[in-house]
Amino acid sequence: METQLAPRARTGLSRYSDTWVFLDGEMVRYHDAYLPPMTHALHYGTGCFEGIRAYWNAEQDQLFLLQAEAHYKRLRRSASILRLDIPYSDTELVNWTAEILRRNNARTDTYIRPLVFISAEEIGVRLHDLQRSVLIYTAPLGEYIATDAGIRCMTSSWRRIPDFAIPARAKISGSYINSAFAKTEALENGYDEAIMLASDGHVSEGSAENLFMVRDDVFVTPSVTEDILEGITRNLLIGLARNELGLQVVERSIDRTELYTCDELLLCGTGAQVSPVVELDHRKIGDGHVGRHTRRLQDLYFSAVRGDEPRYRHWLTPVYG
Ligand code: PMP
Repeated sequence: METQLAPRARTGLSRYSDTWVFLDGEMVRYHDAYLPPMTHALHYGTGCFEGIRAYWNAEQDQLFLLQAEAHYKRLRRSASILRLDIPYSDTELVNWTAEILRRNNARTDTYIRPLVFISAEEIGVRLHDLQRSVLIYTAPLGEYIATDAGIRCMTSSWRRIPDFAIPARAKISGSYINSAFAKTEALENGYDEAIMLASDGHVSEGSAENLFMVRDDVFVTPSVTEDILEGITRNLLIGLARNELGLQVVERSIDRTELYTCDELLLCGTGAQVSPVVELDHRKIGDGHVGRHTRRLQDLYFSAVRGDEPRYRHWLTPVYG
């Protein structure tokens, strides 16, 4: 690793060098967004972030930001839990995001990463009275996990962080160690993704996704008190399941073994999109193929996010024109 990092650190070059980023009220080049080695958040994980997607529609020659305001609203909530303020309105943040994408001439599916973090060069762990910074970068992004054939999951041996230790409803940089433990364990054991239980043993969520199961045509998902991130994709799917599929949606505690005997299972998130799960802990989900409700939701979701579903254009902010 050191041999890869060393030359890059010397030259300051990476494949993103020439892109524009937003840093504390200004547009600067990626390689000019200098963060000192003592940056507090680098050592203590004292920051919070968002992950937003923008979808490219070639026929419409348009890039659509998905649920940008909702993401900045959640960023503000995460920041307030961390005692950090964001000195810009949601509208300003959305406008800047669109501006960076235009400057970067983003004409492909793109990921946007806003980060609010303690940038003080300070030794000592605390949250209050420290300088913070706001950073936004963009990078092209295709699939994060497979969405077509269905993925294989394991129940993680790592439990989800409880609200009384590190709140999962805030998207806190340092808390992603919990997800990283689970994801690495799953991948190194030959699975595609981890499903984590809350500390009381109920189902919580994936390493970076919320979870839904279908049982007897009811769409069930852990409620927001199960140590989950209050996912934006989760909200969108709840709406689609109710309004388009006519399914009853229930938010409640889920036992691990309910997942073994459900008809359909899926993970969802900005990165993950809608990812069907066809196997969990060596048990087939349903008949081991992607279920019909899941496939229908996925089709609807993908056409809505790409701007092909006029009913859901209010989810989107066009970047060009
Ligand atoms: N849970 C966790 C832990 C996540 O990191 C994510 C991804 N942001 C999600 C759920 C899904 O949330 P969203 O749909 O808002 O991206």
